[in-house]
Amino acid sequence: FERKKVVVLGAGYAGLQTITKLQKKVSAQDCDITLINKNDYHYEATWLHEASAGTLKTQDVLYPIASVVDASKVDFVKAEVTKINRDEKTVETTNGIFHFDILVVALGFESETFGISGMKEHAFQIENVNTSRRIAKHIEERFSHYAQSTEKDDKDLAILVGGAGFTGIELLGELTDRVPELCKKYGVDPAKVKLTCVEAAPKMLPMFSDELVNYVVEYLEARGVEFKIATPIVAANKHGFVVKNGEQEEQLYANTVIWAAGVRGSKLMEESFEGVKRGRIVVREDNRIDGYDDIFVIGDCSAVMAGEGDNKRPYPTTAQIAMQQGEFTADAIVKLLNNQPLGKFVYNERGTVASLGAHDGVGVVMGKEITGKKAAFMKKVIDTRAVFKIGGTGLALKKGKFL
Ligand code: NAD
Repeated sequence: FERKKVVVLGAGYAGLQTITKLQKKVSAQDCDITLINKNDYHYEATWLHEASAGTLKTQDVLYPIASVVDASKVDFVKAEVTKINRDEKTVETTNGIFHFDILVVALGFESETFGISGMKEHAFQIENVNTSRRIAKHIEERFSHYAQSTEKDDKDLAILVGGAGFTGIELLGELTDRVPELCKKYGVDPAKVKLTCVEAAPKMLPMFSDELVNYVVEYLEARGVEFKIATPIVAANKHGFVVKNGEQEEQLYANTVIWAAGVRGSKLMEESFEGVKRGRIVVREDNRIDGYDDIFVIGDCSAVMAGEGDNKRPYPTTAQIAMQQGEFTADAIVKLLNNQPLGKFVYNERGTVASLGAHDGVGVVMGKEITGKKAAFMKKVIDTRAVFKIGGTGLALKKGKFL
Protein backbone atom coordinates (compact mmCIF):
# COMPACT_ATOMS: atom_id res chain seq x y z
CA PHE A 1 0.00 0.00 0.00
CA GLU A 2 1.45 3.27 -1.09
CA ARG A 3 0.28 6.51 0.40
CA LYS A 4 -1.26 8.93 -2.09
CA LYS A 5 0.59 12.15 -2.72
CA VAL A 6 -1.52 15.29 -2.42
CA VAL A 7 0.20 18.40 -3.76
CA VAL A 8 -1.23 21.89 -3.25
CA LEU A 9 0.16 24.76 -5.31
CA GLY A 10 -0.19 28.18 -3.73
CA ALA A 11 -0.74 29.40 -0.18
CA GLY A 12 -3.28 32.10 -0.86
CA TYR A 13 -6.83 31.96 0.47
CA ALA A 14 -7.81 28.90 -1.57
CA GLY A 15 -4.66 26.79 -1.12
CA LEU A 16 -4.08 27.56 2.52
CA GLN A 17 -7.73 26.98 3.42
CA THR A 18 -7.49 23.57 1.70
CA ILE A 19 -4.39 22.69 3.68
CA THR A 20 -5.57 23.85 7.09
CA LYS A 21 -8.84 21.97 6.74
CA LEU A 22 -7.28 18.87 5.21
CA GLN A 23 -4.64 18.56 7.94
CA LYS A 24 -7.45 18.39 10.51
CA LYS A 25 -9.25 15.64 8.61
CA VAL A 26 -6.44 13.20 7.85
CA SER A 27 -3.81 11.44 9.86
CA ALA A 28 -0.18 11.34 8.73
CA GLN A 29 -0.79 7.74 7.58
CA ASP A 30 -3.62 8.66 5.21
CA CYS A 31 -1.61 10.55 2.59
CA ASP A 32 1.48 12.66 1.97
CA ILE A 33 0.63 16.34 1.74
CA THR A 34 2.95 18.88 0.15
CA LEU A 35 2.31 22.59 -0.02
CA ILE A 36 4.39 24.55 -2.52
CA ASN A 37 4.49 28.34 -2.40
CA LYS A 38 6.82 31.03 -3.70
CA ASN A 39 7.18 32.69 -0.30
CA ASP A 40 7.29 31.26 3.19
CA TYR A 41 4.50 33.62 4.18
CA HIS A 42 0.83 34.05 3.30
CA TYR A 43 -0.43 37.56 2.64
CA GLU A 44 -3.95 38.90 2.83
CA ALA A 45 -4.50 39.84 -0.80
CA THR A 46 -7.71 41.65 0.15
CA TRP A 47 -5.70 44.02 2.35
CA LEU A 48 -3.23 45.09 -0.32
CA HIS A 49 -5.01 48.40 -0.90
CA GLU A 50 -4.13 49.27 2.69
CA ALA A 51 -0.51 48.21 2.28
CA SER A 52 -0.35 50.19 -0.98
CA ALA A 53 -1.68 53.38 0.59
CA GLY A 54 0.54 52.90 3.63
CA THR A 55 -2.32 52.65 6.14
CA LEU A 56 -1.14 49.13 7.01
CA LYS A 57 2.48 48.04 7.19
CA THR A 58 3.72 45.06 5.18
CA GLN A 59 4.17 43.09 8.40
CA ASP A 60 0.49 43.56 9.28
CA VAL A 61 -0.64 41.98 6.01
CA LEU A 62 1.34 38.74 6.17
CA TYR A 63 2.08 35.82 8.46
CA PRO A 64 4.42 32.82 8.25
CA ILE A 65 2.92 29.75 6.59
CA ALA A 66 4.65 27.64 9.25
CA SER A 67 2.43 29.26 11.88
CA VAL A 68 -0.72 27.62 10.45
CA VAL A 69 0.59 24.45 8.82
CA ASP A 70 0.87 21.23 10.86
CA ALA A 71 4.43 20.13 10.12
CA SER A 72 3.67 16.58 11.27
CA LYS A 73 1.33 16.17 8.30
CA VAL A 74 2.33 18.72 5.69
CA ASP A 75 5.66 19.26 3.95
CA PHE A 76 6.01 22.91 3.11
CA VAL A 77 8.30 23.65 0.15
CA LYS A 78 9.33 27.21 -0.61
CA ALA A 79 9.64 27.25 -4.39
CA GLU A 80 8.20 28.79 -7.49
CA VAL A 81 6.17 26.48 -9.68
CA THR A 82 7.52 26.61 -13.24
CA LYS A 83 5.53 23.91 -15.00
CA ILE A 84 2.59 21.58 -14.43
CA ASN A 85 2.73 18.36 -16.45
CA ARG A 86 -0.87 17.28 -16.12
CA ASP A 87 -0.52 13.92 -17.89
CA GLU A 88 2.83 12.94 -16.36
CA LYS A 89 1.40 14.01 -12.99
CA THR A 90 4.39 16.08 -12.06
CA VAL A 91 5.03 19.65 -11.05
CA GLU A 92 8.33 21.33 -11.84
CA THR A 93 9.57 23.98 -9.43
CA THR A 94 12.68 26.00 -8.67
CA ASN A 95 13.26 23.53 -5.86
CA GLY A 96 12.80 20.17 -7.61
CA ILE A 97 10.18 18.07 -9.34
CA PHE A 98 7.19 16.71 -7.42
CA HIS A 99 4.97 13.79 -8.35
CA PHE A 100 1.29 14.00 -7.44
CA ASP A 101 -1.66 11.65 -7.26
CA ILE A 102 -4.00 14.51 -6.42
CA LEU A 103 -3.19 18.09 -7.37
CA VAL A 104 -4.78 21.31 -6.16
CA VAL A 105 -3.91 24.32 -8.31
CA ALA A 106 -4.46 27.51 -6.33
CA LEU A 107 -1.92 29.85 -7.86
CA GLY A 108 -3.90 33.05 -7.50
CA PHE A 109 -3.99 36.26 -9.50
CA GLU A 110 -1.66 38.57 -11.39
CA SER A 111 -2.19 42.04 -12.74
CA GLU A 112 -3.59 42.22 -16.29
CA THR A 113 -2.71 45.27 -18.36
CA PHE A 114 -4.46 44.11 -21.57
CA GLY A 115 -1.35 44.95 -23.58
CA ILE A 116 -1.82 48.68 -22.97
CA SER A 117 1.35 50.40 -24.12
CA GLY A 118 3.74 51.43 -21.36
CA MET A 119 1.51 50.19 -18.54
CA LYS A 120 3.90 47.56 -17.18
CA GLU A 121 6.86 49.94 -17.30
CA HIS A 122 5.28 53.16 -16.04
CA ALA A 123 2.46 52.21 -13.70
CA PHE A 124 2.57 50.44 -10.37
CA GLN A 125 0.56 47.22 -10.19
CA ILE A 126 -1.11 45.87 -7.07
CA GLU A 127 -0.09 42.22 -7.04
CA ASN A 128 1.58 41.25 -3.79
CA VAL A 129 3.09 42.64 -0.60
CA ASN A 130 6.21 43.77 -2.40
CA THR A 131 4.43 45.71 -5.12
CA SER A 132 2.23 47.28 -2.44
CA ARG A 133 5.16 48.19 -0.20
CA ARG A 134 6.83 49.90 -3.16
CA ILE A 135 3.71 51.94 -3.91
CA ALA A 136 3.41 53.17 -0.31
CA LYS A 137 7.12 53.99 -0.20
CA HIS A 138 6.99 55.83 -3.52
CA ILE A 139 4.00 57.96 -2.49
CA GLU A 140 5.71 58.97 0.73
CA GLU A 141 8.96 59.76 -1.11
CA ARG A 142 7.07 62.07 -3.49
CA PHE A 143 5.57 63.99 -0.55
CA SER A 144 8.96 64.19 1.12
CA HIS A 145 10.60 65.32 -2.13
CA TYR A 146 7.94 67.99 -2.64
CA ALA A 147 8.45 69.29 0.89
CA GLN A 148 12.22 69.49 0.49
CA SER A 149 12.52 70.95 -3.01
CA THR A 150 12.89 74.62 -3.65
CA GLU A 151 11.35 74.37 -7.11
CA LYS A 152 8.22 72.47 -6.28
CA ASP A 153 6.72 70.03 -8.75
CA ASP A 154 2.97 69.71 -8.20
CA LYS A 155 3.05 66.33 -9.95
CA ASP A 156 4.73 64.96 -6.80
CA LEU A 157 1.36 65.40 -5.11
CA ALA A 158 -0.67 63.96 -7.96
CA ILE A 159 -1.78 60.33 -7.85
CA LEU A 160 -3.53 58.65 -10.75
CA VAL A 161 -5.53 55.48 -10.14
CA GLY A 162 -6.60 53.47 -13.19
CA GLY A 163 -9.89 51.63 -12.72
CA ALA A 164 -12.89 52.19 -10.45
CA GLY A 165 -13.50 48.53 -9.67
CA PHE A 166 -13.38 47.35 -6.07
CA THR A 167 -9.60 47.55 -5.96
CA GLY A 168 -9.46 51.11 -7.32
CA ILE A 169 -12.24 52.31 -5.02
CA GLU A 170 -10.82 50.69 -1.90
CA LEU A 171 -7.38 52.08 -2.71
CA LEU A 172 -8.81 55.58 -3.12
CA GLY A 173 -10.63 55.20 0.20
CA GLU A 174 -7.34 54.36 1.94
CA LEU A 175 -5.56 57.20 0.17
CA THR A 176 -8.11 59.68 1.50
CA ASP A 177 -7.16 58.44 4.99
CA ARG A 178 -3.44 58.49 4.27
CA VAL A 179 -3.06 61.82 2.45
CA PRO A 180 -3.97 63.98 5.47
CA GLU A 181 -1.37 62.08 7.53
CA LEU A 182 1.29 62.65 4.88
CA CYS A 183 0.36 66.32 4.56
CA LYS A 184 0.77 66.75 8.30
CA LYS A 185 4.05 64.86 8.41
CA TYR A 186 5.63 66.82 5.55
CA GLY A 187 3.93 70.18 6.04
CA VAL A 188 2.11 70.01 2.71
CA ASP A 189 -1.08 71.96 1.95
CA PRO A 190 -3.81 69.29 1.44
CA ALA A 191 -5.47 71.48 -1.21
CA LYS A 192 -2.45 70.87 -3.44
CA VAL A 193 -2.89 67.08 -3.48
CA LYS A 194 -4.63 65.69 -6.56
CA LEU A 195 -6.23 62.24 -6.51
CA THR A 196 -7.71 61.22 -9.85
CA CYS A 197 -9.49 58.02 -10.75
CA VAL A 198 -9.91 57.10 -14.41
CA GLU A 199 -12.58 54.57 -15.37
CA ALA A 200 -13.39 53.32 -18.87
CA ALA A 201 -16.97 52.20 -18.25
CA PRO A 202 -19.84 54.71 -18.19
CA LYS A 203 -20.99 53.26 -14.85
CA MET A 204 -18.72 52.15 -12.06
CA LEU A 205 -19.36 49.19 -9.70
CA PRO A 206 -22.23 47.86 -11.84
CA MET A 207 -23.07 45.19 -9.25
CA PHE A 208 -24.08 47.92 -6.76
CA SER A 209 -27.30 49.97 -6.80
CA ASP A 210 -27.22 53.63 -7.85
CA GLU A 211 -27.63 54.61 -4.18
CA LEU A 212 -24.49 52.75 -3.16
CA VAL A 213 -22.50 54.03 -6.15
CA ASN A 214 -23.59 57.59 -5.39
CA TYR A 215 -22.55 57.11 -1.78
CA VAL A 216 -19.08 56.03 -2.91
CA VAL A 217 -18.70 58.91 -5.35
CA GLU A 218 -19.92 61.52 -2.87
CA TYR A 219 -17.73 60.16 -0.09
CA LEU A 220 -14.60 60.18 -2.21
CA GLU A 221 -15.30 63.46 -4.01
CA ALA A 222 -15.85 65.17 -0.66
CA ARG A 223 -12.32 64.06 0.20
CA GLY A 224 -10.77 65.43 -2.94
CA VAL A 225 -11.00 62.58 -5.44
CA GLU A 226 -11.77 63.54 -9.03
CA PHE A 227 -13.48 60.88 -11.15
CA LYS A 228 -13.08 60.66 -14.90
CA ILE A 229 -15.76 58.19 -15.93
CA ALA A 230 -16.26 56.78 -19.45
CA THR A 231 -12.60 57.62 -20.04
CA PRO A 232 -10.51 54.65 -21.18
CA ILE A 233 -6.80 54.67 -20.49
CA VAL A 234 -5.04 53.94 -23.77
CA ALA A 235 -1.39 54.22 -22.72
CA ALA A 236 0.93 54.95 -19.85
CA ASN A 237 4.18 56.89 -20.13
CA LYS A 238 6.65 58.65 -17.85
CA HIS A 239 4.25 61.59 -17.44
CA GLY A 240 1.19 59.56 -16.45
CA PHE A 241 -1.79 58.11 -18.32
CA VAL A 242 -2.92 58.86 -21.84
CA VAL A 243 -6.73 58.72 -21.92
CA LYS A 244 -9.36 58.87 -24.60
CA ASN A 245 -11.61 61.86 -24.22
CA GLY A 246 -14.23 61.46 -26.94
CA GLU A 247 -12.18 61.33 -30.15
CA GLN A 248 -9.25 63.16 -28.56
CA GLU A 249 -6.35 61.76 -26.63
CA GLU A 250 -5.40 63.57 -23.48
CA GLN A 251 -2.29 63.32 -21.33
CA LEU A 252 -2.87 63.16 -17.58
CA TYR A 253 0.14 64.02 -15.43
CA ALA A 254 1.20 62.54 -12.11
CA ASN A 255 4.34 61.27 -10.42
CA THR A 256 2.44 58.34 -8.90
CA VAL A 257 0.55 56.18 -11.37
CA ILE A 258 -1.25 53.03 -10.24
CA TRP A 259 -2.99 50.49 -12.46
CA ALA A 260 -5.89 48.88 -10.58
CA ALA A 261 -8.00 48.04 -13.60
CA GLY A 262 -7.56 44.38 -14.24
CA VAL A 263 -6.55 41.02 -12.87
CA ARG A 264 -6.13 37.55 -14.33
CA GLY A 265 -5.28 34.10 -13.05
CA SER A 266 -1.69 32.85 -13.05
CA LYS A 267 0.11 32.74 -16.42
CA LEU A 268 1.03 29.12 -15.67
CA MET A 269 -2.59 28.21 -16.36
CA GLU A 270 -2.39 28.82 -20.13
CA GLU A 271 0.91 26.95 -20.25
CA SER A 272 -0.52 23.95 -18.41
CA PHE A 273 -4.12 23.52 -19.52
CA GLU A 274 -6.39 23.96 -22.50
CA GLY A 275 -9.39 26.27 -22.68
CA VAL A 276 -7.92 28.83 -20.29
CA LYS A 277 -9.09 32.45 -20.55
CA ARG A 278 -7.26 35.21 -18.68
CA GLY A 279 -5.65 32.58 -16.50
CA ARG A 280 -8.98 31.02 -15.52
CA ILE A 281 -10.30 27.59 -16.36
CA VAL A 282 -13.93 26.53 -16.06
CA VAL A 283 -14.23 23.90 -13.36
CA ARG A 284 -16.79 21.16 -12.94
CA GLU A 285 -19.26 21.34 -10.10
CA ASP A 286 -16.78 19.56 -7.83
CA ASN A 287 -13.92 22.00 -8.64
CA ARG A 288 -12.09 19.45 -10.79
CA ILE A 289 -11.30 20.19 -14.43
CA ASP A 290 -12.67 18.37 -17.46
CA GLY A 291 -10.84 15.17 -18.24
CA TYR A 292 -8.83 15.11 -15.03
CA ASP A 293 -10.30 13.44 -11.98
CA ASP A 294 -7.19 14.11 -9.95
CA ILE A 295 -6.79 17.86 -10.58
CA PHE A 296 -8.70 20.53 -8.68
CA VAL A 297 -8.38 24.17 -9.68
CA ILE A 298 -9.62 26.68 -7.13
CA GLY A 299 -9.45 30.39 -6.34
CA ASP A 300 -8.61 33.05 -8.91
CA CYS A 301 -7.39 30.50 -11.49
CA SER A 302 -10.80 28.84 -11.59
CA ALA A 303 -14.08 29.91 -13.12
CA VAL A 304 -17.06 28.59 -11.17
CA MET A 305 -20.04 28.94 -13.45
CA ALA A 306 -23.30 30.42 -12.21
CA GLY A 307 -26.68 30.73 -13.92
CA GLU A 308 -28.20 28.71 -16.72
CA GLY A 309 -28.11 28.72 -20.53
CA ASP A 310 -27.29 32.10 -22.06
CA ASN A 311 -27.01 33.66 -18.61
CA LYS A 312 -24.21 31.33 -17.62
CA ARG A 313 -21.16 33.27 -16.48
CA PRO A 314 -18.45 32.81 -13.87
CA TYR A 315 -18.72 34.19 -10.38
CA PRO A 316 -16.30 37.07 -9.79
CA THR A 317 -13.02 36.02 -8.23
CA THR A 318 -13.03 36.89 -4.55
CA ALA A 319 -11.40 35.69 -1.35
CA GLN A 320 -14.83 34.59 -0.19
CA ILE A 321 -15.36 32.10 -3.01
CA ALA A 322 -11.71 31.00 -2.89
CA MET A 323 -11.97 30.07 0.78
CA GLN A 324 -15.22 28.19 0.29
CA GLN A 325 -13.64 26.30 -2.61
CA GLY A 326 -10.72 25.47 -0.32
CA GLU A 327 -13.01 24.04 2.34
CA PHE A 328 -14.93 22.03 -0.23
CA THR A 329 -11.72 20.71 -1.78
CA ALA A 330 -10.31 19.53 1.55
CA ASP A 331 -13.47 17.45 2.06
CA ALA A 332 -13.40 16.30 -1.56
CA ILE A 333 -9.81 15.06 -1.24
CA VAL A 334 -10.74 12.96 1.77
CA LYS A 335 -13.65 11.51 -0.21
CA LEU A 336 -11.42 10.87 -3.20
CA LEU A 337 -8.93 9.01 -0.99
CA ASN A 338 -11.82 6.87 0.24
CA ASN A 339 -13.36 6.33 -3.22
CA GLN A 340 -16.51 8.18 -2.27
CA PRO A 341 -18.51 10.52 -4.51
CA LEU A 342 -17.37 14.14 -4.16
CA GLY A 343 -20.67 15.97 -4.21
CA LYS A 344 -21.19 19.43 -5.56
CA PHE A 345 -19.64 22.76 -4.62
CA VAL A 346 -22.32 25.31 -3.83
CA TYR A 347 -21.15 28.87 -3.42
CA ASN A 348 -22.81 30.60 -0.52
CA GLU A 349 -22.59 34.28 -1.37
CA ARG A 350 -22.78 36.14 1.91
CA GLY A 351 -22.33 39.58 0.47
CA THR A 352 -19.78 42.15 -0.57
CA VAL A 353 -18.39 45.08 1.34
CA ALA A 354 -16.05 47.68 -0.07
CA SER A 355 -14.16 49.76 2.44
CA LEU A 356 -13.74 53.51 2.13
CA GLY A 357 -10.77 53.87 4.41
CA ALA A 358 -10.83 52.53 7.96
CA HIS A 359 -14.07 54.17 9.07
CA ASP A 360 -16.49 54.05 6.17
CA GLY A 361 -17.67 51.77 3.41
CA VAL A 362 -20.55 50.39 1.40
CA GLY A 363 -21.88 46.93 0.82
CA VAL A 364 -24.60 44.38 0.55
CA VAL A 365 -24.72 41.85 3.38
CA MET A 366 -27.34 39.12 3.53
CA GLY A 367 -29.25 40.98 0.84
CA LYS A 368 -29.27 44.26 2.78
CA GLU A 369 -27.50 47.43 1.68
CA ILE A 370 -25.28 49.04 4.28
CA THR A 371 -23.16 52.19 4.30
CA GLY A 372 -20.95 54.18 6.63
CA LYS A 373 -19.68 52.91 9.99
CA LYS A 374 -21.84 49.81 9.77
CA ALA A 375 -20.14 48.82 6.52
CA ALA A 376 -16.70 49.62 7.93
CA PHE A 377 -17.49 47.43 10.93
CA MET A 378 -18.72 44.56 8.72
CA LYS A 379 -15.58 44.81 6.62
CA LYS A 380 -13.42 44.37 9.73
CA VAL A 381 -15.54 41.38 10.75
CA ILE A 382 -15.07 39.85 7.28
CA ASP A 383 -11.30 40.49 7.36
CA THR A 384 -10.94 39.03 10.83
CA ARG A 385 -13.10 36.04 9.97
CA ALA A 386 -10.88 35.21 6.99
CA VAL A 387 -7.84 35.07 9.26
CA PHE A 388 -9.75 33.03 11.84
CA LYS A 389 -10.99 30.50 9.24
CA ILE A 390 -7.41 29.67 8.27
CA GLY A 391 -5.45 30.16 11.47
CA GLY A 392 -7.99 29.85 14.29
CA THR A 393 -8.29 32.03 17.36
CA GLY A 394 -4.54 32.43 17.92
CA LEU A 395 -3.96 33.96 14.50
CA ALA A 396 -7.18 36.00 14.63
CA LEU A 397 -6.00 37.61 17.87
CA LYS A 398 -2.67 38.45 16.30
CA LYS A 399 -3.80 39.59 12.87
CA GLY A 400 -7.49 40.34 13.21
CA LYS A 401 -8.84 43.85 12.93
CA PHE A 402 -10.45 44.94 16.16
CA LEU A 403 -12.00 48.32 16.61
P1 NAD B 1 -12.17 44.65 -11.91
O1 NAD B 1 -11.87 43.98 -13.18
O2 NAD B 1 -13.33 44.23 -11.13
O3 NAD B 1 -12.34 46.22 -12.16
C1 NAD B 1 -11.49 46.91 -13.04
C2 NAD B 1 -12.09 48.25 -13.44
O4 NAD B 1 -11.17 48.88 -14.31
C3 NAD B 1 -13.41 48.11 -14.19
O5 NAD B 1 -14.32 49.05 -13.68
C4 NAD B 1 -13.02 48.42 -15.63
O6 NAD B 1 -14.07 49.02 -16.37
C5 NAD B 1 -11.85 49.37 -15.46
N1 NAD B 1 -10.96 49.38 -16.61
C6 NAD B 1 -10.52 48.32 -17.34
N2 NAD B 1 -9.72 48.72 -18.34
C7 NAD B 1 -9.64 50.07 -18.25
C8 NAD B 1 -8.94 51.06 -18.99
N3 NAD B 1 -8.20 50.76 -20.05
N4 NAD B 1 -9.09 52.34 -18.62
C9 NAD B 1 -9.84 52.69 -17.54
N5 NAD B 1 -10.50 51.79 -16.81
C10 NAD B 1 -10.41 50.50 -17.14
O7 NAD B 1 -10.81 44.52 -11.05
P2 NAD B 1 -10.59 44.69 -9.48
O8 NAD B 1 -11.27 45.89 -8.96
O9 NAD B 1 -9.13 44.58 -9.29
O10 NAD B 1 -11.29 43.42 -8.86
C11 NAD B 1 -10.84 42.11 -9.18
C12 NAD B 1 -11.69 41.06 -8.50
O11 NAD B 1 -11.49 41.12 -7.10
C13 NAD B 1 -13.17 41.27 -8.74
O12 NAD B 1 -13.77 40.03 -8.86
C14 NAD B 1 -13.63 41.96 -7.49
O13 NAD B 1 -14.99 41.68 -7.20
C15 NAD B 1 -12.70 41.38 -6.45
N6 NAD B 1 -12.49 42.34 -5.35
C16 NAD B 1 -13.41 42.38 -4.35
C17 NAD B 1 -13.25 43.26 -3.31
C18 NAD B 1 -14.28 43.30 -2.21
O14 NAD B 1 -15.16 42.44 -2.18
N7 NAD B 1 -14.25 44.25 -1.31
C19 NAD B 1 -12.15 44.12 -3.27
C20 NAD B 1 -11.21 44.06 -4.31
C21 NAD B 1 -11.41 43.16 -5.35
